[in-house]
Amino acid sequence: MIIENVYIAPVVGPEIPSGYIRIEGDRIAEVGSGPAQPNPGETRIDGTGCLATPGLINTHHHLYQWASQGLAQDATLFEWLVASYQVWAAMDAEVVKGAAAAGLGYLALSGCTLSSDHHYVFPQGRGDLFAAEIEAARELGIRFHPARGSMDRGQSQGGLPPDVVVEDRDTVLAATSEAIDAYHDPSFSSKLRIAVAPCSPFSVTAELMTDAAELARAKGVRLHTHLAETLDEDEHCVEAFGVRPVDYMEKLGWLGPDVWFAHTVHLSDADIDKFAATGTGAAHCPSSNGRLGAGIARVSEMLRRGANVGLGVDGNASSELTTLSGEMRQALLFQRAAHGPTALTARQALEMATMGGARNLGRAGELGSLEAGKLADIALWRVDGAFASAVEDPVCQLVFATRQPPLARLLVGGESVVENDELKTVDQDVSGRAGAEAHRRLMRLAREQGFSVAKEVHT
Ligand SMILES: [Zn+2]
Repeated sequence: MIIENVYIAPVVGPEIPSGYIRIEGDRIAEVGSGPAQPNPGETRIDGTGCLATPGLINTHHHLYQWASQGLAQDATLFEWLVASYQVWAAMDAEVVKGAAAAGLGYLALSGCTLSSDHHYVFPQGRGDLFAAEIEAARELGIRFHPARGSMDRGQSQGGLPPDVVVEDRDTVLAATSEAIDAYHDPSFSSKLRIAVAPCSPFSVTAELMTDAAELARAKGVRLHTHLAETLDEDEHCVEAFGVRPVDYMEKLGWLGPDVWFAHTVHLSDADIDKFAATGTGAAHCPSSNGRLGAGIARVSEMLRRGANVGLGVDGNASSELTTLSGEMRQALLFQRAAHGPTALTARQALEMATMGGARNLGRAGELGSLEAGKLADIALWRVDGAFASAVEDPVCQLVFATRQPPLARLLVGGESVVENDELKTVDQDVSGRAGAEAHRRLMRLAREQGFSVAKEVHT
């Protein structure tokens, strides 16, 4: 297959105003400038009027939250969590499957070719929730790095979640180990990798954090958790552990090149330097941080000091219908609003959404840029529409515009997942309806357990 006559923003290396990308099997064979010399029998895609970027990479999500959007709209993180835990306690595998089908489809339509997911609520007797989301990703055909999450520190132990949604440590470690053995594919072309992800310092014991790190390292998989999201968490850590969040995680052996943290909004200079020195990554989720009033992560300072930052849409319950392409804009505007117009460029935002994400997920050798030898995960954005064609620079148009340019193609390993803003591997209407049905089902199950929706919309 060859994509011709296309503006190429490869992220690594110079941009090519008119060039071609040759794909052989699931890899990029060649990226070149000028007209292509097609081989006999090669499928030719005319990229005239399009911008080619690497597929976007989402490094923080909770797909099940598609089913609990719109609740506790005016709450802080802790208030929102306390309201949401009651709803999440009612979820089952059917809810997760429908939510993941809709959530992953929505991501693909915003240019995402690889998504992580952080699933940490496993109510007992509700079916195989982890298998349900993996099945949805397989059907859609995008790359998926689900993290087996967990909570073992309920209210009776000084944690935030009610005891009904936490598991005991042995159960968590056994289930996490089984998930890795059953699903983790470490190969170059892998479409499925597992990570280990206890939920947060305020819902997990120090013992589980330590054991989880040991398990992940023994199995050769990556580690993920939420960190330094709000000032409430800062206070909680100082009160409960005598140190701030990054120092706490350092004590538990949780800094390193195999770790990426979600949010990291409240970091000191010393914290940022620790990230840079240890190769610890961050998943910046600006819309979620804005929605919950958590603050603005010091992204430009992190990049300046050499720390890796990728992007994440975060669960839809705290970001609502956020697109991954839109998070580039949100990240850029937050940094500029806080630190001036040179704080973050459109190219830096695109790099966070691609290479930054690939580094967070341990895929920098295979993904994140358009280079010969890497996997053919490519987004082709149509930038020649009647309104759009007045913009000189296609990367500016992609990152600055509120309205995402049409997605002409989304290739995952050379296979079309999206064509002309339409999912090709699954029925888009069916996926959308599955998400709506998952929401209705979850709310019904939650009401049966005594949850009052009317009371919780505005908390
Ligand atoms: Zn999260």
